[in-house]
Amino acid sequence: RVTRRPPRMKMAHYPVSGIREILDLVLLRGGDVVRLELGEPGYPVPAHIADAGALAAHGEVRYTQSAGLLELRTEASDALARRYGTVIDPSRIVISQGGSQGIAAVFEALVRPGDEVVLPDPAWPNYLAMTTMRGATPVPYGLPRERGYLPDPAEIERLITPATRVLVINSPGNPTGAVMPRALVEQIVAIAARAGVVVVSDEVYDELIFDGEPTFAAAIAPDDVVSVFSFSKTYAMTGWRVGYLVLPPALAQTVGHIQESLISCVSTVSQRAALAALRGPQTDVAVMREGYRQARDYVVGRLRDGGIPIDAPAGAFYVMVPLAPGVDSRAAAIDLVDAGVAVAPGTAFGRVAADQVRLSLATSLPQLAVGIDRLLAWYHETG
Ligand code: PLP
Repeated sequence: RVTRRPPRMKMAHYPVSGIREILDLVLLRGGDVVRLELGEPGYPVPAHIADAGALAAHGEVRYTQSAGLLELRTEASDALARRYGTVIDPSRIVISQGGSQGIAAVFEALVRPGDEVVLPDPAWPNYLAMTTMRGATPVPYGLPRERGYLPDPAEIERLITPATRVLVINSPGNPTGAVMPRALVEQIVAIAARAGVVVVSDEVYDELIFDGEPTFAAAIAPDDVVSVFSFSKTYAMTGWRVGYLVLPPALAQTVGHIQESLISCVSTVSQRAALAALRGPQTDVAVMREGYRQARDYVVGRLRDGGIPIDAPAGAFYVMVPLAPGVDSRAAAIDLVDAGVAVAPGTAFGRVAADQVRLSLATSLPQLAVGIDRLLAWYHETG
């Protein structure tokens, strides 16, 4: 007789974000909590983009090519040429469901059980999750505060072994906001290329830089680097789920095929909206960037005045706040919910920033003001 058993999962425990715990606490507690834990733009989607999506929804909405609408890939290529002066053939571009699914598709192509993936710590947690879900081993390199949250190429070189398949870099960085200077990106790409390791360069915050310049890493070594772009942060389109990859030619074809098996294609409505985003005026992007800059300057100023010596992040929309020595950020974040402000604990991003919390700047200045008041009061109360 066959006994009914619950389905056997591939992994006993799937990774869940360390921010989830704080989110759940906020929802459970209810009441007045200033929400600075999530990395999501507070701005509405620019009207001309939403309109283009709505118009598309009423029109011929069918499957597109798995790699995405040729029109959109061509427009992305033009946008990259305008922005970075590098011409990319549209055949090297694949449209994805945001940066997340784009990176997952690249991992699907490259990462097997037993492989190693060299990735930053602290980092957006999904790199680690995508690695372990494929039975591969994450090998973190440090982004310590003392080094301005920048990687040390010598450390990365030491960590690369014959089992390394992918090296992840992320600039501007989540959660740190650090922007890697071009020379540093070039140095790291050269190390990976020498070792035959593919670099996945997560550039989803490339339009959100206040100090410094973005580096389009795939332009440095077209056969060794994947650059990841997204409409989520640039155009406040997180829920539209659209982004794109610039890939080495051989990998582009494979990832195009993988898209077919995984998702068929990205929502045609979202692709049409993305087309409008690239073709339309970029004024909203500049307005949002200026808003984040003001928020950054405000928060950095308030924290410094309040006795917390922090460095101003050069990009993205996060600020890392060091806690008193020995304070664990997970316990602190739980405590802070009771103090009326939700933050992301450094433990959600790895081990290196376990004594720091991340604040998101993606909310209104009045909300930030109340959040910082509460954070500072808690900080000084707890010593
Ligand atoms: N990469 C980084 C560093 C992020 O912070 C995020 C989102 O928070 C993503 C990628 C993925 O965003 P999306 O899939 O919406 O493009």
